[in-house]
Amino acid sequence: MHEVSVVSSLVSAVLDELSKYKVTKVNSVTAVIGDLTNLGEEQMSFAYEIVTRGTVLEGSEFIIEHEPIVLSCKSCGHTGPAKVLSDPGFGEHPIPVLACPECGGPVTVVKGQTCAVRSMDIEEEERCSSTGTRRPRRRF
Ligand SMILES: [Zn+2]
Repeated sequence: MHEVSVVSSLVSAVLDELSKYKVTKVNSVTAVIGDLTNLGEEQMSFAYEIVTRGTVLEGSEFIIEHEPIVLSCKSCGHTGPAKVLSDPGFGEHPIPVLACPECGGPVTVVKGQTCAVRSMDIEEEERCSSTGTRRPRRRF
């Protein structure tokens, strides 16, 4: 399963970053996944659950934000979303067409290939216990 290796590297990058802080709890990790990566959301959530077991990330929420595909045409300069083949014959997954929707020319992919962590919602160890009841929170 491709998703497992992708999620493992995302998680190890997150753990790397978190090792700089005294993290007591991680509420959520938000990742941006481009629609061109062909990564399954369900498979990624499942992989996340497995990969984070026994780490500080265990039990945290894995939020996936989709990045839509944006193409830029080399011939006519048109920039915009990809045309999608949503014929019922293709099932539930629409197939993006990597050609200019205006002139059919060759395109470069501007957006849609991202696979990265956008933010984390963590709670740090309290530095001063006398101030209020709220634990300090940090958002990246
Ligand atoms: Zn074009």
